[in-house]
Amino acid sequence: MTGFEVVQVRYGERVTRKSAVLHEYASYGQPDGDLQMDYNFWVLRDGSRIVLLDTGYDITERDWLGEQPVISTPDALRLLDVDPLDVSTVVTSHFHYDHIGHLGLFANAEVVSGVAEHEYWFGKWHRGELDGEFATAGHLEAVWRAEKEGRLRLVTEETEVAPGLTVIPVGGHSPGELLTIVESRSGPLIMAADAAHFYEQIENEWPFFAFTDLDEMRRALALINRLAEERNATVIPGHDGRVRDRFPALGGPAAAVATVLG
Ligand SMILES: [Zn+2]
Repeated sequence: MTGFEVVQVRYGERVTRKSAVLHEYASYGQPDGDLQMDYNFWVLRDGSRIVLLDTGYDITERDWLGEQPVISTPDALRLLDVDPLDVSTVVTSHFHYDHIGHLGLFANAEVVSGVAEHEYWFGKWHRGELDGEFATAGHLEAVWRAEKEGRLRLVTEETEVAPGLTVIPVGGHSPGELLTIVESRSGPLIMAADAAHFYEQIENEWPFFAFTDLDEMRRALALINRLAEERNATVIPGHDGRVRDRFPALGGPAAAVATVLG
């Protein structure tokens, strides 16, 4: 089967609790437990075309929630033999620090983002309201630079941004959160990113504790399951350490940090 090779890179990690990250978890009457929370970005390759979904961030500079570094984004890309300047497209699932921290590395790429994400964060930035938020002016500057250079593509609806690569704005966790559907070598993958951090959220349609619109988040979870059925697709939650139990490690020098999803 043709299609993208999809590799997940774990650049950081932390351990959290179900009760800490699942909205109103106590109301489900189920035991609490640890969750291995991976911090990932994804490298999609089809021949010479290289797409990144999200970019990671520099944990050694500042860990926001006690994240532990696993590998830096530049080092991981070197292991994967990817020159950031050869990346043609970067899809940003949303503008939180752990998803766009290294966006500035990809100076030649078209950046694909949700229009609602852009309006929300640039509004906050211009009004001086970024204190205590999950993005800094430094993060948004990389988006702004892409915009100034004519490389920013803002989407308002389901859009095939390249052959085999479709984004769908869903909001919820963040106003312009995007789902990404990739036609991979092993079939379609729904890359949920932070529309669904963990498998529990997909299986039970349980919201995450952090959201800008709870109803939108619930609708996004329902949509993920409907799309998975309609398109016979596999869903990849954005931060779940158990993804690494379900898919094989990539061979070669990146084996310790890279998982083959498709
Ligand atoms: Zn995240």
